Amino acid sequence: MPLSVKGTLLLNEDPRSVKKAAKIIKNGGLVAFPTETVYGLGAAANDAAAVARIYKAKGRPADNPLIIHLSDFDQLKMVARDIPDKAFHLANCFWPGPLSLVLFRAEKIPALVSAGLASIAVRMPDHRIALELIRLSGFPIAAPSANRSGRPSPTSYRHVIEDLNGRIDAVIKSNTCTVGVESTVLDLTRDKPVILRPGGVSKENLELALGETVFISGLSKKDATPRSPGMKYRHYSPDARLILVTGSQSRRYNVIKALANRYLKLGLKVGYLNFKLESSLNSRISPEQMASTLYSSMRRMDQQGIDIILAEEISPEGLGLAVMNRLKKAATRILHAG
Ligand code: AMP
Ligand code: MG
Repeated sequence: MPLSVKGTLLLNEDPRSVKKAAKIIKNGGLVAFPTETVYGLGAAANDAAAVARIYKAKGRPADNPLIIHLSDFDQLKMVARDIPDKAFHLANCFWPGPLSLVLFRAEKIPALVSAGLASIAVRMPDHRIALELIRLSGFPIAAPSANRSGRPSPTSYRHVIEDLNGRIDAVIKSNTCTVGVESTVLDLTRDKPVILRPGGVSKENLELALGETVFISGLSKKDATPRSPGMKYRHYSPDARLILVTGSQSRRYNVIKALANRYLKLGLKVGYLNFKLESSLNSRISPEQMASTLYSSMRRMDQQGIDIILAEEISPEGLGLAVMNRLKKAATRILHAG
């Protein structure tokens, strides 16, 4: 018998368990499953009642759309219409992988999946279990990240249980979310391709594949109504206060040392996110490493009762753009060291 935690089934990754998970999805239930980015909380994308349950379980605002996950290229036409050639090209280049394409929503997909928008985001995850689950459940799966709204995204089944125990039907046990940050969301419904959320596929690689400039939405503070609705909320946040220090490396180091001393003197517990205080050499951590440990480090520091998390700016190249985006959203304060 599978283990059960307060009503939430804990399933293993073996074929029989994944089949059981698919049955739960087919019957209108919610299953948290691993992907290469973060854990997803899935429901059948054509089942409006099940999709409504996702919002409820997460405490997710009704205007924050989900992403539809495919296991097969042919499923793209089941969820989107008027698909541009660029979408097929990018799907060929990056799927399965951490790239969500925003396209026009097909009629049979309930509006609730995309929070009432005429568009949908869709991707094919690069994860054996996720693909098997979607295939066996017989229809694409709508899924946001499997965390309580506002919390750091889960990269282990333990994080899912921390947040959603008893609120969802099942979790497939795994620790294989290797990318560690969410997918890149790329809008293809306008004249120019626009990144609505930076993520696991870099802007540089999208530009190489498309042979044209890819724009980034919401970089300017004047952009008060972001096109990617989820991006307006404070997000990815640990319970601790997170201070992000930007600026030149040597000045950052001095500011961080001063901050650490001040808080330690006050008797507060201080944690360091992407560097060691003795060296402040975050340039030695690759953006890939930083991404893959970002959320689990935040959660670990919360468990350790840390009051203040100090984080250092990293270069916005490659996955660094996604890491900086998450750090800025998680921060209670951004300090420019000059
Ligand atoms: P999550 O999987 O929890 O990261 O949530 C999915 C995110 O994808 C949302 O918060 C949005 O930022 C983005 N997204 C999903 N669908 C759309 C859409 N139709 N248009 C724009 N952004 C979308
Ligand atoms: Mg999320």
